[in-house]
Amino acid sequence: MLSVLDIFKVGVGPSSSHTVGPMRAARRFLVEAGEAGALSAADRVHVELHGSLALTGIGHGSDRATIMGLLGFEPETTDPDVAALAVDGVKSEGVITLCGAARAIAFDPRRDIELRGDIIPKLHPNGMRLRLIDAKGATAFEQTYYSVGGGFIASARQLEAPAEDDLIVQARAGRRPFASAAELLAHCADLNCDVADVVLENEDEVRPRRGTLAGLDAIWAAMHACVTRGLKTEGELPGGLNVRRRAPKLYESLIDAPLANDSERLFDWLNVYAMAVNEENAAGGRVVTAPTNGAAGIIPAVLMHYCVEDNEAQIDRIRTFLLTAGGVGMLYKMRASISGAEMGCQGEVGVACSMAAAGLAAVWGGTPRQVERAAEIGMEHNLGLTCDPVGGLVQIPCIERNAIGAVKAANAARLALRSGDDAKVSLDQVIETMRQTGLDMSTKYKETSEGGLAVNVVEC
Ligand code: SF4
Repeated sequence: MLSVLDIFKVGVGPSSSHTVGPMRAARRFLVEAGEAGALSAADRVHVELHGSLALTGIGHGSDRATIMGLLGFEPETTDPDVAALAVDGVKSEGVITLCGAARAIAFDPRRDIELRGDIIPKLHPNGMRLRLIDAKGATAFEQTYYSVGGGFIASARQLEAPAEDDLIVQARAGRRPFASAAELLAHCADLNCDVADVVLENEDEVRPRRGTLAGLDAIWAAMHACVTRGLKTEGELPGGLNVRRRAPKLYESLIDAPLANDSERLFDWLNVYAMAVNEENAAGGRVVTAPTNGAAGIIPAVLMHYCVEDNEAQIDRIRTFLLTAGGVGMLYKMRASISGAEMGCQGEVGVACSMAAAGLAAVWGGTPRQVERAAEIGMEHNLGLTCDPVGGLVQIPCIERNAIGAVKAANAARLALRSGDDAKVSLDQVIETMRQTGLDMSTKYKETSEGGLAVNVVEC
């Protein structure tokens, strides 16, 4: 069953689709090859990255993430520095010991990882074909996977049975099944409870309650650690755009000159927390997909500003926020997509903004109807947002876009709490609108770096 702990996962930057997904797929490939008894025959491994995975593959670190997965690293537990050293070792020595294999084989990333942007898979724009080749040059094992957004991966078989339908069937197996905002609100009305209560009760189907609460606390701890690192770490981001980290300087200026009565200071705090996370993400650091890496800064920023007081995390508020936001994230995952390669940036930053607005409305004491409205407003004003990362890097416009998204989320929650019960647009309608807009959007604006800012801003 789709869980809130699937929506929020610890991973490494810079991209959930293009870094976390390929890492998982490469590792899963070797596990499946081992189960099929094919691993011992491997004399070479060959990987093709297709479509959007190839077109922004280098900027998004897909090649390095693939090597990490082949070495057996998992996104949830990987120390990014250790993994980076291991990848550098493979590149310099020209050999790799595949996860689960007994011996090293020759490996040259330039030959063995092919970027095939000319192949646009029908099932999903982020395709990845892996092959083990024996000493005679024959294929010993082969699989194709798709990185479908938010670090989720799927096989062709899984995608051929439409993912939404799969997920909706699973959602109906929950204790309080919901596959639409209308169904979620109906449970809240029947039980006279909040969105977070319904989501938490469904999590009880997956694991004991204490496991869910511990999982949520671990997600918060990882978000907090990421913000803290991002506020302190200075320097230039990798990739060649010469983008300098801005969060540490802005943070210093805020600490040095606190102006309690300056209402515009709100923007500075939301901005600095969001940018701290996304600068960490752009540097390949440890982040929480929320619901993707590119949009990872919005939810931690809103949490940091509204659920931490005098350096004390208000853990009950944080759990309520994450459960509510996670429930909204599940609706997008079930009914549309959280993949920038399918939906453009409305499916990443837009969804994160909608989730954060819902979470904030909940901790501000909003009714389920107001929470739904906050989520709706959070997405309504991100509809049509394109994905056009300059240089294929998750830096421009992504870092600032998270800051803007965090501010927009707070305003959406505010608007929802100040509105009456006469909403003209429902969350279900806006999710469907996002889906249709994503389908109509040109592929130039869907994680390919072939349009928008990516072609109008000259790379330095
Ligand atoms: S523009 Fe948006 S969807 Fe595209 S890489 Fe940046 S954050 Fe992700």
